[in-house]
Amino acid sequence: MEQRKRPGCSDGLGYYTSWDKSKENGCIYCGKPATTREHVPSKAFLIEPYPDNLATIPACFECNNGFSNDEEYVACFLDVLKESIYRGYSRSLATTQRLEKNANLKMLLDEQIKVTNGTVQYTFDEKRLCRILIKLAKGHAGFELDYISFDDSDIQIDYDFVFNMSEADIDRFEEIPQTNLFPEVGSRSCMTPYIVQNISTGESAAFMFWNEVQDNQYRYQVSYNSSGGICVKIVIFELLYCRVDFD
Ligand SMILES: [Zn+2]
Repeated sequence: MEQRKRPGCSDGLGYYTSWDKSKENGCIYCGKPATTREHVPSKAFLIEPYPDNLATIPACFECNNGFSNDEEYVACFLDVLKESIYRGYSRSLATTQRLEKNANLKMLLDEQIKVTNGTVQYTFDEKRLCRILIKLAKGHAGFELDYISFDDSDIQIDYDFVFNMSEADIDRFEEIPQTNLFPEVGSRSCMTPYIVQNISTGESAAFMFWNEVQDNQYRYQVSYNSSGGICVKIVIFELLYCRVDFD
């Protein structure tokens, strides 16, 4: 599978955001020297056959492996919750296989998601979920806009399940933001056809489209927020809607 690379990364630019075996790289998550490349999003949220051309970023060995347990938990939790809520939806083969191999995780999910008389009750480990959502958002912001942040204190995270959201909430979330702030030259977004010019006024505006990584599995959008920070929106399994702001 060919890996999608963030271009424009010679001369030190992209040290943390573009994996290149022939040069030194830094881990996008912790800043230490990176020895591995990681997919964004992680394959834990995708199903086979995987999409071609998945984005990759540099990560150190510890970070690359240190998120796997929580990613497995989040992916399985969301898939089993989706199956419990939506009639006609069945968990993926990947989820079935993961739970067959991991009895502790299966037990945990049996505790956390209960269906009685057609009513679904659920609880989840918010810390593990947020850890993974922030990690995914950092990967997208790094890959798309060459943005890095090792300080988690400036991060705001907001998420909900689609069945708890009103139509207005969903519309607001789905909106394609228009911005006059242009990404840095060399960042990948400069190369996507999203700059639109108004014929009557001659003004240019930038639109940040959704990146559909895999149908019904994963999509994301990276844009600038109203305070000039970066906003990453992620939809996992068309169930969890999440917004992470880096200010
Ligand atoms: Zn690291």
